Amino acid sequence: VERANRVLELVRAVPDYPGPGITFRDITGLLADGDAFGHVVEALGDVVRAAGGVDLVAGMEARGFLVGAPLATHLGVGFVPLRKAGKLPPPTDSVTYDLEYGTATIELRAGTLHPGARVLVVDDVLATGGTAAAGAELVERGGGVVVGMAFLLELDGLGGRERLAGREVTTLVHVE
Ligand code: 5GP
Repeated sequence: VERANRVLELVRAVPDYPGPGITFRDITGLLADGDAFGHVVEALGDVVRAAGGVDLVAGMEARGFLVGAPLATHLGVGFVPLRKAGKLPPPTDSVTYDLEYGTATIELRAGTLHPGARVLVVDDVLATGGTAAAGAELVERGGGVVVGMAFLLELDGLGGRERLAGREVTTLVHVE
């Protein structure tokens, strides 16, 4: 609990960013603290191991890479980047999803996942769940099985949990 509090302390709330009325949670201070960052990776790793482990960790661009890649090496498995459109050379699988204004597309290198690969989808923050839901869909489109979803921070009250209902969701710390 003490270490979870320390993690929470290191997440900075930035009012009115990136727009009026929005409070952005900045995790860069947490990443810069070796003890706290190490704790985050270990704590998420413990949950994943207790749930039976995974074959691969898939991270959402870009902050999901920062949490997902160290988690993958900690677990001794490979890492798969789920990238914003246009970053990966072809061939790719893709999923397009709705944002507040407009749409976004994410891509996965086709053939990365062996059929039935057990995949953990990782991102830094769970807010409305739209990004993570698209990530899970992309993994499934690529032939993987999403056995869990892990986040450093959950923003309560934005419907992320509900959006990911039926999936195994782990978050380390929560804020209102
Ligand atoms: P969602 O799709 O769940 O609404 O938003 C989650 C995505 O947006 C994640 O990829 C996350 O990195 C980013 N995001 C949304 N709000 C925040 C925030 O307050 N802080 C950080 N670090 N990322 C956020």
